[in-house]
Amino acid sequence: MTRAVIALGANLGDRGSTLRSAARAIAAVPGIRPVASSREVESVALTLDGLDTTKPRYRNAVVVVDTDLTPDALLDALHGIEDDHGRTREVRWGDRTLDLDVVAIDDIRIDTATLTVPHPRAGERAFVLAPWLDADPDAELPGAGPVADLLAALGDDTERIDEPRLFDGQGSGQGTEQGPEHTR
Ligand code: AMP
Repeated sequence: MTRAVIALGANLGDRGSTLRSAARAIAAVPGIRPVASSREVESVALTLDGLDTTKPRYRNAVVVVDTDLTPDALLDALHGIEDDHGRTREVRWGDRTLDLDVVAIDDIRIDTATLTVPHPRAGERAFVLAPWLDADPDAELPGAGPVADLLAALGDDTERIDEPRLFDGQGSGQGTEQGPEHTR
């Protein structure tokens, strides 16, 4: 069993319902157990050319799960959920109905053609760090340190959306200020 951190993002369509639907789909994958989730944040679209205020704004969130799946099987499951939500992949870093990224899996390091974990840009993205900290106040990015410190150094340019957490009451750690219990 490993603990995985998954970042969700959407900037097309009904972004809030897409994130909620995707979180439900993640929790329903056989071999995945929901542990904790964030509220949503909103931020300016980030493209290969930098921040673009002409693009639809992003909603992002983070879910923490325990899983028996291998990292590759987890990524496959996430791709299936992206496809179910109409994700198209024409433009790298283009607008998308749903983007799911594996941020971290325990302290494991992976660097293959299809999967890099921890996600190489997670530490530079407030739209990943802020919801991750919201889901887990004790979160640490392997190799980089406490998420709270990384976010403080980076500056939080995200806007918190006043909605419930993505996992409605599922799993341990929800509805408390403590975040997931650390078992490692
Ligand atoms: P993107 O279009 O930005 O979502 O990138 C998709 C591709 O990135 C996927 O097909 C994955 O094979 C690859 N990838 C590499 N590392 C990761 C990761 N940690 N999480 C999600 N996708 C990853």
